[in-house]
Amino acid sequence: MLELRSVTKYFGGLAALKDVSFTVREGEFVGLIGPNGSGKTTLFHCITGVLKPNAGKIIFIENDITGLTPDKICHAGIARTFQIPKPFKSITAVENVAAGILFGNIGDTHYSQRDARQEAQKLMDLVGLNVDESVLPDQLNVISLRILELGRALATKPKLLLLDEIASGLTQAEISEASLRLKRIREEMGITVIWVEHIMSALMNVVERVVVLDYGQVIADGKPSEVSQDEKVIEAYLGKE
Ligand code: ADP
Ligand code: MG
Repeated sequence: MLELRSVTKYFGGLAALKDVSFTVREGEFVGLIGPNGSGKTTLFHCITGVLKPNAGKIIFIENDITGLTPDKICHAGIARTFQIPKPFKSITAVENVAAGILFGNIGDTHYSQRDARQEAQKLMDLVGLNVDESVLPDQLNVISLRILELGRALATKPKLLLLDEIASGLTQAEISEASLRLKRIREEMGITVIWVEHIMSALMNVVERVVVLDYGQVIADGKPSEVSQDEKVIEAYLGKE
Protein backbone atom coordinates (compact mmCIF):
# COMPACT_ATOMS: atom_id res chain seq x y z
CA MET A 1 0.00 0.00 0.00
CA LEU A 2 2.78 2.44 0.95
CA GLU A 3 6.29 2.28 -0.38
CA LEU A 4 9.06 4.57 0.79
CA ARG A 5 12.05 4.62 -1.51
CA SER A 6 15.20 6.24 -0.10
CA VAL A 7 13.32 9.15 1.45
CA THR A 8 15.81 11.82 2.53
CA LYS A 9 15.14 15.12 4.29
CA TYR A 10 17.65 17.76 5.31
CA PHE A 11 17.17 20.68 7.68
CA GLY A 12 20.17 22.80 6.72
CA GLY A 13 23.14 20.49 7.25
CA LEU A 14 21.24 18.03 9.41
CA ALA A 15 19.94 14.89 7.72
CA ALA A 16 16.70 14.21 9.64
CA LEU A 17 15.98 11.28 7.27
CA LYS A 18 18.65 9.40 5.35
CA ASP A 19 17.62 6.93 2.66
CA VAL A 20 14.56 5.67 4.50
CA SER A 21 13.05 2.71 2.66
CA PHE A 22 10.32 0.36 3.79
CA THR A 23 6.92 -0.80 2.65
CA VAL A 24 3.60 -1.26 4.40
CA ARG A 25 1.09 -3.77 3.10
CA GLU A 26 -2.64 -3.18 3.06
CA GLY A 27 -4.18 -4.15 6.41
CA GLU A 28 -0.93 -4.08 8.37
CA PHE A 29 -0.59 -2.53 11.82
CA VAL A 30 2.96 -1.20 11.91
CA GLY A 31 4.76 0.48 14.79
CA LEU A 32 7.38 3.10 14.00
CA ILE A 33 9.65 3.69 16.95
CA GLY A 34 12.92 5.43 17.69
CA PRO A 35 14.46 7.73 20.27
CA ASN A 36 13.50 11.41 20.38
CA GLY A 37 14.84 13.27 17.38
CA SER A 38 15.26 10.12 15.25
CA GLY A 39 13.04 11.48 12.45
CA LYS A 40 9.64 9.86 13.08
CA THR A 41 7.57 13.04 12.88
CA THR A 42 9.62 14.30 9.93
CA LEU A 43 8.79 11.08 8.09
CA PHE A 44 5.06 11.62 8.72
CA HIS A 45 5.42 15.22 7.54
CA CYS A 46 7.02 13.96 4.31
CA ILE A 47 4.36 11.29 3.72
CA THR A 48 1.50 13.75 4.28
CA GLY A 49 2.96 16.62 2.24
CA VAL A 50 3.64 18.95 5.18
CA LEU A 51 7.30 18.76 4.15
CA LYS A 52 8.80 17.90 0.80
CA PRO A 53 11.62 15.34 0.91
CA ASN A 54 14.93 16.42 -0.68
CA ALA A 55 15.26 13.03 -2.34
CA GLY A 56 13.46 9.74 -2.66
CA LYS A 57 9.97 8.68 -3.59
CA ILE A 58 6.73 7.95 -1.76
CA ILE A 59 4.36 5.61 -3.55
CA PHE A 60 0.81 5.11 -2.26
CA ILE A 61 -1.38 2.48 -3.93
CA GLU A 62 0.77 2.60 -7.05
CA ASN A 63 0.66 6.41 -7.32
CA ASP A 64 3.66 8.64 -6.80
CA ILE A 65 2.51 11.11 -4.14
CA THR A 66 5.94 12.64 -3.45
CA GLY A 67 5.64 16.38 -2.94
CA LEU A 68 1.84 16.58 -3.39
CA THR A 69 0.04 19.07 -1.12
CA PRO A 70 -1.56 17.79 2.13
CA ASP A 71 -5.13 18.18 0.80
CA LYS A 72 -4.38 15.98 -2.23
CA ILE A 73 -2.71 13.38 -0.03
CA CYS A 74 -5.70 13.42 2.34
CA HIS A 75 -8.05 12.93 -0.59
CA ALA A 76 -5.86 10.06 -1.81
CA GLY A 77 -6.64 8.32 1.50
CA ILE A 78 -3.93 9.15 4.04
CA ALA A 79 -4.85 10.83 7.34
CA ARG A 80 -2.68 11.62 10.33
CA THR A 81 -2.72 12.96 13.83
CA PHE A 82 -0.25 15.60 15.01
CA GLN A 83 2.06 15.01 17.98
CA ILE A 84 1.38 18.61 18.96
CA PRO A 85 -2.41 18.78 18.46
CA LYS A 86 -3.51 21.23 15.79
CA PRO A 87 -7.27 21.71 16.22
CA PHE A 88 -9.24 24.38 14.37
CA LYS A 89 -9.57 26.60 17.41
CA SER A 90 -12.48 28.82 16.44
CA ILE A 91 -14.95 25.97 15.98
CA THR A 92 -16.21 23.40 18.49
CA ALA A 93 -14.66 19.97 19.02
CA VAL A 94 -17.55 18.25 17.24
CA GLU A 95 -17.26 20.72 14.36
CA ASN A 96 -13.56 19.84 14.07
CA VAL A 97 -14.56 16.27 13.34
CA ALA A 98 -17.38 17.44 11.05
CA ALA A 99 -14.77 19.45 9.11
CA GLY A 100 -12.93 16.20 8.44
CA ILE A 101 -16.15 14.72 7.07
CA LEU A 102 -17.04 17.75 4.94
CA PHE A 103 -13.62 18.51 3.49
CA GLY A 104 -11.64 15.30 3.83
CA ASN A 105 -13.69 13.26 1.40
CA ILE A 106 -14.15 13.76 -2.30
CA GLY A 107 -16.36 11.95 -4.74
CA ASP A 108 -18.07 10.43 -1.73
CA THR A 109 -21.54 10.88 -0.24
CA HIS A 110 -22.39 14.55 -0.16
CA TYR A 111 -22.97 15.51 3.44
CA SER A 112 -25.12 18.41 4.56
CA GLN A 113 -23.74 20.27 7.57
CA ARG A 114 -26.40 18.63 9.71
CA ASP A 115 -25.51 15.11 8.55
CA ALA A 116 -21.82 15.86 9.04
CA ARG A 117 -22.51 16.94 12.62
CA GLN A 118 -24.46 13.75 13.32
CA GLU A 119 -21.78 11.61 11.77
CA ALA A 120 -19.16 13.53 13.78
CA GLN A 121 -21.03 12.77 16.97
CA LYS A 122 -20.91 9.06 16.14
CA LEU A 123 -17.18 9.27 15.58
CA MET A 124 -16.75 11.07 18.91
CA ASP A 125 -18.45 8.09 20.56
CA LEU A 126 -16.28 5.65 18.65
CA VAL A 127 -13.03 7.30 19.77
CA GLY A 128 -14.38 7.82 23.27
CA LEU A 129 -14.49 11.61 23.48
CA ASN A 130 -17.65 12.50 25.29
CA VAL A 131 -17.94 16.26 25.39
CA ASP A 132 -20.78 18.72 25.18
CA GLU A 133 -21.65 20.04 21.73
CA SER A 134 -20.58 23.57 22.65
CA VAL A 135 -17.07 22.64 23.87
CA LEU A 136 -14.22 24.43 22.11
CA PRO A 137 -10.76 22.83 21.63
CA ASP A 138 -9.23 25.30 24.11
CA GLN A 139 -11.37 23.75 26.85
CA LEU A 140 -9.86 20.29 26.31
CA ASN A 141 -6.71 18.89 27.92
CA VAL A 142 -3.89 17.58 25.77
CA ILE A 143 -5.02 13.95 26.02
CA SER A 144 -8.54 14.83 24.82
CA LEU A 145 -7.00 16.96 22.07
CA ARG A 146 -5.07 13.91 20.85
CA ILE A 147 -8.30 11.92 20.77
CA LEU A 148 -9.90 14.77 18.85
CA GLU A 149 -7.05 14.53 16.33
CA LEU A 150 -7.90 10.85 15.94
CA GLY A 151 -11.62 11.59 15.43
CA ARG A 152 -10.90 14.23 12.81
CA ALA A 153 -8.46 11.96 11.01
CA LEU A 154 -10.94 9.06 10.96
CA ALA A 155 -13.60 11.45 9.65
CA THR A 156 -11.74 11.68 6.34
CA LYS A 157 -12.25 7.89 5.92
CA PRO A 158 -8.58 7.11 5.44
CA LYS A 159 -7.17 3.95 3.95
CA LEU A 160 -3.91 4.63 5.77
CA LEU A 161 -3.79 6.29 9.18
CA LEU A 162 -0.62 7.74 10.69
CA LEU A 163 -0.64 8.21 14.45
CA ASP A 164 2.04 10.41 16.01
CA GLU A 165 2.58 9.69 19.72
CA ILE A 166 -1.11 9.50 20.40
CA ALA A 167 -0.48 7.64 23.68
CA SER A 168 2.15 9.93 25.17
CA GLY A 169 1.27 11.19 28.62
CA LEU A 170 -1.01 8.25 29.34
CA THR A 171 -0.48 5.83 32.22
CA GLN A 172 0.36 2.20 31.46
CA ALA A 173 -3.27 1.16 32.10
CA GLU A 174 -4.59 3.93 29.86
CA ILE A 175 -2.13 2.93 27.13
CA SER A 176 -3.41 -0.65 27.21
CA GLU A 177 -6.98 0.58 27.01
CA ALA A 178 -6.14 2.97 24.16
CA SER A 179 -4.34 0.26 22.20
CA LEU A 180 -7.30 -2.08 22.47
CA ARG A 181 -9.64 0.66 21.32
CA LEU A 182 -7.36 1.43 18.39
CA LYS A 183 -7.15 -2.22 17.48
CA ARG A 184 -10.95 -2.41 17.41
CA ILE A 185 -11.41 0.79 15.39
CA ARG A 186 -8.80 -0.40 12.92
CA GLU A 187 -10.52 -3.74 12.45
CA GLU A 188 -14.01 -2.22 12.22
CA MET A 189 -13.01 0.42 9.68
CA GLY A 190 -10.50 -1.76 7.82
CA ILE A 191 -7.68 0.76 8.07
CA THR A 192 -3.95 0.24 7.66
CA VAL A 193 -2.09 1.96 10.50
CA ILE A 194 1.41 3.24 11.20
CA TRP A 195 1.73 4.15 14.84
CA VAL A 196 4.64 6.24 16.08
CA GLU A 197 5.71 6.19 19.72
CA HIS A 198 9.07 6.80 21.25
CA ILE A 199 8.30 4.47 24.16
CA MET A 200 8.82 1.00 22.79
CA SER A 201 6.59 -0.86 25.24
CA ALA A 202 3.45 1.15 24.37
CA LEU A 203 2.79 -0.55 21.08
CA MET A 204 4.77 -3.78 21.19
CA ASN A 205 1.71 -5.77 22.25
CA VAL A 206 -0.60 -4.59 19.51
CA VAL A 207 1.43 -4.05 16.35
CA GLU A 208 2.38 -6.84 13.99
CA ARG A 209 5.60 -5.31 12.81
CA VAL A 210 8.00 -2.65 14.04
CA VAL A 211 10.28 -0.35 12.07
CA VAL A 212 12.99 1.36 14.12
CA LEU A 213 14.56 4.70 13.23
CA ASP A 214 17.76 6.04 14.72
CA TYR A 215 19.41 9.27 13.54
CA GLY A 216 17.13 9.28 10.50
CA GLN A 217 17.96 5.75 9.38
CA VAL A 218 16.09 2.47 9.54
CA ILE A 219 18.08 0.24 11.91
CA ALA A 220 15.58 -2.61 12.28
CA ASP A 221 12.36 -3.87 10.71
CA GLY A 222 10.61 -7.00 11.92
CA LYS A 223 8.33 -8.67 14.44
CA PRO A 224 8.14 -6.92 17.85
CA SER A 225 9.72 -9.95 19.57
CA GLU A 226 12.69 -9.93 17.17
CA VAL A 227 13.19 -6.18 17.15
CA SER A 228 13.21 -5.87 20.93
CA GLN A 229 16.15 -8.35 21.03
CA ASP A 230 18.09 -6.53 18.32
CA GLU A 231 21.51 -5.29 19.49
CA LYS A 232 21.34 -2.05 17.48
CA VAL A 233 17.88 -1.27 18.83
CA ILE A 234 18.88 -1.94 22.44
CA GLU A 235 21.94 0.26 21.98
CA ALA A 236 19.96 3.12 20.39
CA TYR A 237 17.55 3.12 23.30
CA LEU A 238 20.05 2.58 26.09
CA GLY A 239 22.17 5.36 24.70
CA LYS A 240 19.41 7.94 24.74
CA GLU A 241 16.54 7.15 27.04
P1 ADP B 1 11.11 12.51 16.31
O1 ADP B 1 9.70 12.74 15.87
O2 ADP B 1 11.61 11.14 16.01
O3 ADP B 1 11.33 12.87 17.74
P2 ADP B 1 11.72 14.69 14.49
O4 ADP B 1 11.31 14.18 13.17
O5 ADP B 1 10.81 15.64 15.15
O6 ADP B 1 12.06 13.47 15.46
O7 ADP B 1 13.12 15.39 14.38
C1 ADP B 1 14.24 14.78 13.70
C2 ADP B 1 15.41 15.75 13.72
O8 ADP B 1 15.14 16.87 12.88
C3 ADP B 1 15.73 16.34 15.09
O9 ADP B 1 17.12 16.49 15.19
C4 ADP B 1 15.03 17.69 15.07
O10 ADP B 1 15.67 18.60 15.91
C5 ADP B 1 15.17 18.09 13.60
N1 ADP B 1 14.05 18.92 13.12
C6 ADP B 1 12.74 18.56 13.09
N2 ADP B 1 11.99 19.52 12.54
C7 ADP B 1 12.84 20.53 12.21
C8 ADP B 1 12.66 21.82 11.60
N3 ADP B 1 11.46 22.23 11.21
N4 ADP B 1 13.77 22.57 11.43
C9 ADP B 1 15.00 22.13 11.80
N5 ADP B 1 15.23 20.93 12.37
C10 ADP B 1 14.16 20.15 12.58
MG1 MG C 1 8.04 13.30 16.93
